[in-house]
Amino acid sequence: MDFSRVELTADEQGFLDEIRTFLGTHVTDDVRRRDRETGDNFDEAVHLAMGEAGYLEREYRSEEGGGFTRVERRLWALERRRSHVPWVTWGTTVLVAHSVEAYAQPDLRDEVMSQVFSGHVRMCLGYTEPEGGSDIATCKTKAVRDGDDWVINGSKMFTTGAHNCRYVFLITNTDPNAERKHKSLTMFLVPLDTPGIEIQGLRTVDGDRTNIVYYNDVRISDRYRLGEVNEGWTVLRGPLDTEHGVVDAAVDGLDDVSILQHQGMFMGTAVDKVATIVGQEGSDGGRRIDDGLVSHRLGRSVARIEAALSTPHMFGRVAIAQAMREVSLELMDVVGPTSVLPIETPGALDDGATEYLYRWAPLCGIYGGTLEVFRNMIAQYTLGMGRPMYAPVKR
Ligand SMILES: Cc1cc2nc3c(=O)[nH]c(=O)nc-3n(C[C@H](O)[C@H](O)[C@H](O)COP(=O)(O)OP(=O)(O)OC[C@H]3O[C@@H](n4cnc5c(N)ncnc54)[C@H](O)[C@@H]3O)c2cc1C
Repeated sequence: MDFSRVELTADEQGFLDEIRTFLGTHVTDDVRRRDRETGDNFDEAVHLAMGEAGYLEREYRSEEGGGFTRVERRLWALERRRSHVPWVTWGTTVLVAHSVEAYAQPDLRDEVMSQVFSGHVRMCLGYTEPEGGSDIATCKTKAVRDGDDWVINGSKMFTTGAHNCRYVFLITNTDPNAERKHKSLTMFLVPLDTPGIEIQGLRTVDGDRTNIVYYNDVRISDRYRLGEVNEGWTVLRGPLDTEHGVVDAAVDGLDDVSILQHQGMFMGTAVDKVATIVGQEGSDGGRRIDDGLVSHRLGRSVARIEAALSTPHMFGRVAIAQAMREVSLELMDVVGPTSVLPIETPGALDDGATEYLYRWAPLCGIYGGTLEVFRNMIAQYTLGMGRPMYAPVKR
């Protein structure tokens, strides 16, 4: 791993100036406030502007395919994170687009991909069901063949962004009698305006908007199938691995070492804000940082954050989500009663950073796979401890 500082060339500095201007123009305080109010993690005007400026396509494509250079990609990732671009729907779209390119029939592929980069086509993930999401392959939403069509019935929980998307990447069961559940799955790219689809909004404790989506006799043509019948697991593997963060970062040091870095950086910013507060003199002339317990708990939080942000691969995902849960509690104790005040509330000394971190932390250990499931994966696949056994031990 190369830890040296990257010196920007004149072209790279020009690119940095360009994207700072772009983001400063389009990602305004109003955009961020609206995003907090809706919980959408998406802003259509910003998204279409990024499409028009060519950033969506350049981010998606490899350097050889006309995309950003390695350094440009890093600058873009850091700058859009710093300016809090509402981003989740582009993230899900990218995951699905790779599968569309690999598995869709040519006419569907061309139709979809031609509008992804302008920002007009967005796609969301329809995996989790009301009865459980950790074991995706236990899928009860059925697709039944009817001539050239399929008829879909079931429901999906937490289909984030569905109300802003044109298609859902839907996992279905097409063989309820299959001996192996991984051989019963077929993937579809279902247009969300198809009759029989109902989208209902849900808000999570951190304010995110996600959805429950019902599918009642939804009839779609076979052209919307991705990959072979009952081979859906093959189509799903790539996007799942990416979402789980089991893809290695490149050795040039220009990638995030794990996913959830955006969340981890927010945690770092929250600690910085608290450190500033406790370093200021109070009305009695004293500083809270001079209390050994405060400096100890703050120092311990900083060390945990540094360690979590430097931990690679799926271990980093666990480290960041766990650190968020613990650091948010430390910060609440250090800041005191005003730590429960949300952003833009008079009296919120850290402008709501601790309050939001506290509400966000549990979610980061759930979406894309729970902390417990990842710990099991690490135990099983990395430490070689064998499959977990949940049944009571027979004596
Ligand atoms: C904000 C948010 C956005 C989301 N967005 C999407 C989305 O866009 N698309 C989508 O399809 N899903 C989405 N999800 C769903 C998410 O992927 C699931 O919540 C997650 O995979 C866990 O599934 P579950 O909630 O059904 O919990 P369950 O699978 O029912 O698990 C319940 C509890 O049992 C534990 N558990 C389950 N299995 C095991 C095991 N093998 N070993 C140990 N413990 C276990 C879990 O850790 C958890 O504590 C989102 C979730 C959230 C909160």
